[in-house]
Parts: sequence; structure tokens; C-alpha cells
Amino acid sequence: MPTNIQWTDLTDNIIRAKDGGWWCQKISPGCAKCYSEKLNQNTFFGGNKLPYSGQPPELILDTEAIRKWKFQKKPKKHFVASMTDVFGEWVPRSWQHEMLDGMVVAPLQTFQILTKRPSIMLSSIEAWLEANGLDKLPNNIWVGTSIENRQTLEQRSSILAQIPAYVRFWSAEPLLKDLGDISQFLQNIYWIICGGESGTNSRPCHLEWLLSIVQQCQSFQKSVFVKQVGANPYFQQQQFKTRDKKGGDISEFPLQIQVQEFPNVIY
Ligand code: SF4
Repeated sequence: MPTNIQWTDLTDNIIRAKDGGWWCQKISPGCAKCYSEKLNQNTFFGGNKLPYSGQPPELILDTEAIRKWKFQKKPKKHFVASMTDVFGEWVPRSWQHEMLDGMVVAPLQTFQILTKRPSIMLSSIEAWLEANGLDKLPNNIWVGTSIENRQTLEQRSSILAQIPAYVRFWSAEPLLKDLGDISQFLQNIYWIICGGESGTNSRPCHLEWLLSIVQQCQSFQKSVFVKQVGANPYFQQQQFKTRDKKGGDISEFPLQIQVQEFPNVIY
């Protein structure tokens, strides 16, 4: 489905609740104002009103959507399962492997998979690679983890780094704290998406935090994509006003963070 997420072309929600809507399980501070849960509260948008906590409803895997990937001729970037975490504890490993099977036979398409549970991603992908006699994911499958603060940086990035893939990335959005010196973690990734939180009662994002990521990526020749400054940005200790309510208009960013790059990978 077409999307206004700037770093992808399509969202493919292959895992949904059987009776409509979606489901996920909150895991860390970045989930506190989950956009997917908010949408799921609204039946007008197809939601089922369930909270993203407790036990999951009955879920389905959209095998037909997966089967169609290989017939798509126009190259597109697909953000897969944007409304949940495909490596959630409640998702059967066989579903994750069916998804990877569908991706490997669709080399014209690029798949972006993002998780807050990189240890499950690692073990599931290792098992899939072994079952398929491969030592690395094909270059059209990009794997990423969410980074919100220093703690999640330290916990998740080293696990992501162990996944044999051409493109490993972080999504540092919503960025809730300054990540500080990230140089030691940059070696094993190719791309960072970053941005502040949007939506009502968004938590603040200081644009110096984004600037620090951009400058460190530039020093280490890593691609960086500043998605948005968010709905509650601060710059030089003052509220930073934007006309766009998500702070997603790049022309309104301070010049130094007007950067939207994609991974520059030699396959
Ligand atoms: S992992 Fe993503 S979709 Fe799931 S609750 Fe957290 S923010 Fe929402």
C-alpha cells in the first residue's frame, strides 16, 4: 500500500488480526505512543480497538500478498509489517520464513524489515539461511532495528551486527535522548534513519541530537536519512517551530540536518 513514510515506497502489512485490524506488543519507551496502536483504536481506519498489550488475538499471515511480490516488475522499497513487529515472540517462525522465502524470489523488490527484537530476528534468520544453504541474506533484504536512546543502542545494535546481511540499518525514530558517541557502533551498519516523535503529546527531540548523528555518519561515510524533526522539536534551547505538524518538511529543517540519503552499498 502506498505510504507517506519518506524512506520507503510501500507498506506491506502481511500480518493482521483475523477479525480486522492489527496487533503488537509494546516493549520499550519508543513504543509508548505507538502510531500503529493509535490507528488500531479507530474502527474507521480498520482497527479492532485492542490495546498492544496482553494476549494477541487470532492472527493471519497474508500468503497471497507474499506470493505476489515476485510478479511485481517495477522496483519498489517495501516496509514490511509496518503495523507490528514481524519478529515478535507471538509470531510463528514458519511465518517469518515464509516471508523470507517470498522475498528471495522477488529480487527486483527491496524489503526493509525493522524490529525491536533483534535477537529473535537473528536466530530466525540464521535458521532460514541454514535451511537454504546460504551464508548471507540476499541484497534485496535489508534488516534494521529501532534505537531510541543509549540503552537500546547498546542492547540492540550489537545483535543486529551479527546478522549476515548486505544492508543493516537503524531507525532512530522516535529519538528520545542524545545517543552520544556512536562511532564504535557504526562499523557494522550502512544506514541510519532518525527523527523526532510526532503525534499528540510528543516527547521533545533536541535537534542537536539529530545533528550529532548526521555529523558522525558523515565522518564515517554512512548514509543518513533525517525523516522528521517531530512535533515537539527544540533547537539551541528553544522550541523550534515548523508549519508541518510532524516536522517532516525537509525545507523547514536547519540546513545542517537537511540530509535524506539511502544506503550506498556495493553488492
Ligand atoms: S514494536 Fe512498533 S508497532 Fe509494536 S508496539 Fe512498538 S512501536 Fe508499536
